[in-house]
Amino acid sequence: MKRELLDELMGLGVDVVSTPFECQFYGFDVTPLPKETSWVFRGTTPDAVLRPKNTEEVVKIMDFANKHKIPVCPRGGGTSGYYQSVPRSKGIVIETLALNNISELDEKEGIISVSGGVIWSQLDWELKKKGWTLKTYPTSYKSSTVAGWIQTEGLGVGSLAFGSIKKLIKEIEVVLPSGEVVWVPNEGLVETKSGNLKFEDFIKSEGMMGIITSVKLEVRRLPESTATYLLKFKDKNDFALVSSRLAEVSSIFFIEFVNGSYMDLLVQSGYHTPKHSKEEVFAVIRLEGGKSDVGKGEKEIAALLAEHTEIAQLPQEEAEEEYGYRLKYFRIKNAYSSVTPADLSVPLSNLGQYLDKVSRFRFEFAYKGEILTKEQCGLMFFYVLANELSFVRFMSAAPYQMEFILSAMKMGGSPNGGIGLLNTPYVFGLRTQSEREAFIQKKETFDQNWIMNPGKWTDPPFFLRPSIYFSGMKLLEPVCWLVGGIVGRW
Ligand SMILES: Cc1cc2nc3c(=O)[nH]c(=O)nc-3n(C[C@H](O)[C@H](O)[C@H](O)COP(=O)(O)OP(=O)(O)OC[C@H]3O[C@@H](n4cnc5c(N)ncnc54)[C@H](O)[C@@H]3O)c2cc1C
Repeated sequence: MKRELLDELMGLGVDVVSTPFECQFYGFDVTPLPKETSWVFRGTTPDAVLRPKNTEEVVKIMDFANKHKIPVCPRGGGTSGYYQSVPRSKGIVIETLALNNISELDEKEGIISVSGGVIWSQLDWELKKKGWTLKTYPTSYKSSTVAGWIQTEGLGVGSLAFGSIKKLIKEIEVVLPSGEVVWVPNEGLVETKSGNLKFEDFIKSEGMMGIITSVKLEVRRLPESTATYLLKFKDKNDFALVSSRLAEVSSIFFIEFVNGSYMDLLVQSGYHTPKHSKEEVFAVIRLEGGKSDVGKGEKEIAALLAEHTEIAQLPQEEAEEEYGYRLKYFRIKNAYSSVTPADLSVPLSNLGQYLDKVSRFRFEFAYKGEILTKEQCGLMFFYVLANELSFVRFMSAAPYQMEFILSAMKMGGSPNGGIGLLNTPYVFGLRTQSEREAFIQKKETFDQNWIMNPGKWTDPPFFLRPSIYFSGMKLLEPVCWLVGGIVGRW
């Protein structure tokens, strides 16, 4: 960015940093990539990072960006992991963490108004002081923001009970690319100077349609009663057989499961685990709600255990300990420099079939899964522990990720976690063609200068275009397998 423009930007009166040293930290997110890949993703370091404190300051930035046609990339906690909140063509990053106001709780309606940059754990902390809590949150709760999760239409802890975040939002305030400020209700259309918009235009838009500055969110009173279980299954088939029934238990709040190989990685990372074999599957189950509902759920689980005597129930303290670890998603990183996973979801009805299929792959892997809704299961495969410090070793792991995701897509599943930049090759599995066309048309109408988060799935780098990526991967696959086999992957 030219010096005169930077001077004008500084004159806006918004907190700004523009030294290359500070800006470099916004050129990546939580996903570790070897430095050799930077030639594919040139332009990720912004020219300036702005930290607005209120909606008026966001409007000033958008007016400036529009006037000079400068790209704007919104960033909350930067935890989305597919380079959603990393710029593609320099410009401005709007870091939302100073938009951190938490207003009064409306106890009658069970609604709280918060700024878009509020961190989930911060909000939950404030709610708990008043005897309230969140209905759902991502496991990145300690560092991700409310608006960041809306932008990826998240499912996480509690969504088994309450559905996705989308259902729990009453209204959002958005600064459109033109600088116009609108309140968008969950249902119905809102009139703007450039045409009508609806809530769905912002959900999953990954920072390409405007900046969410405020959110009205449904919350709940702290549950009257809870119950936590840690169950051990002989193998994946035994778990898959009862998974749908577990998802239907009264007052079910959370189900997470891991295989024995994952437990091995925990041991290598210095954690205590129950005794296990590689084939066994362990599931943490949490019920939350009113006393009678939780009591009913407990009876249903007791009946299931009486029917399936092969399932073992582990001690209560171990169950509580494992539930506490739900917010330490990458604790196996203690032992490895990188744990590049394949992140995907499959219909719960196909879970057994899917696990069966991938168990025939000729390499060892660990996995962790979460039943996200009564119909959908999210899975993360730690196939090999790629080492991002070595380009060759890192690349040798790439085909594994592709195998897991493409197999899931064949069974009605999809990649998880949004598209951003890194999931661009799988865009066809995440948006239908008509959804993609409709989105681009909307963007052309409401963001005429195409300033909001450009260069992501709508116009990705050459090597990430689906046809180029998959042809390249097919050619590279045998080489990757061979090299990985010779040099090892971590
Ligand atoms: C350890 C770990 C656990 C995770 N667990 C879960 C999980 O349980 N469920 C789940 O769904 N995801 C999960 N994720 C992924 C990620 O944490 C979530 O998607 C999270 O909600 C992103 O929030 P963020 O504030 O970090 O957003 P960012 O990564 O900063 O941004 C995400 C997207 O939103 C846009 N954006 C951010 N703020 C705004 C705003 N105010 N207005 C407009 N656009 C904006 C950005 O441009 C970007 O496109 C996890 C990630 C990690 C690292």
